[in-house]
Amino acid sequence: MIVEHPSPNHAARTDQPVDILVLHYTELPLKESLDILSDDAREGRVSAHYVLDLDGTAYRLVPEDRTAWHAGTSYWRGREALNATSIGIEIVNLHGDRHDYPAAQIAALIELCTGIIARHPAIVPRNVVGHSDIAPQRKIDPGRRFPWKTLASAGIGLWPRDSGRPLDGDFQKGLQRYGYTPPLGVPPREIVKAFQRHFRPAQVDGMVDSETGRLLAGLLDPLGGTL
Ligand SMILES: [Zn+2]
Repeated sequence: MIVEHPSPNHAARTDQPVDILVLHYTELPLKESLDILSDDAREGRVSAHYVLDLDGTAYRLVPEDRTAWHAGTSYWRGREALNATSIGIEIVNLHGDRHDYPAAQIAALIELCTGIIARHPAIVPRNVVGHSDIAPQRKIDPGRRFPWKTLASAGIGLWPRDSGRPLDGDFQKGLQRYGYTPPLGVPPREIVKAFQRHFRPAQVDGMVDSETGRLLAGLLDPLGGTL
């Protein structure tokens, strides 16, 4: 179910296609989230296309053909400032490292994302990202408890097979091949942590251990020549 809840915080798209889907958690309960994302009087106005409540109810704040302001300073695949080319979903959760996402909410999220990807075919699987992937060191949402693997098995985003072999080549270069784009001044270790938050949430320490290397190798494998 989608409830219309228009926010005044949006702008025109550019002529670039929408090709990135960014997932967030709100850090706040539903009502406060809707209020902030619709407030045009505060400094640093913010918004998102959708807010998804715990019970799976989706609120539409900004039409997909307008730019919402959810990503802030952000980087992916060599590009920056990703609001203009992305769709943003804010998922109600107070802290995605500490609180599980309810099954009803995830089922609704899968339905919502499936529709978005169908409407914007340029959103290829590795362009389904968390805020933490595109704003390393600055953001940790949607958090370590976010079920990326469940989404990937529903065709939304990628989940690595453990390749069983070490990564061939430099880890940081591999991260960049996948899409991680290190902002100036952010230490390499923070980019490794962003990768682990998404793909190896059991241990987010920024250390390139053998499992982390095998997972990145597994992730790069199916991309083959399409990079
Ligand atoms: Zn966020």
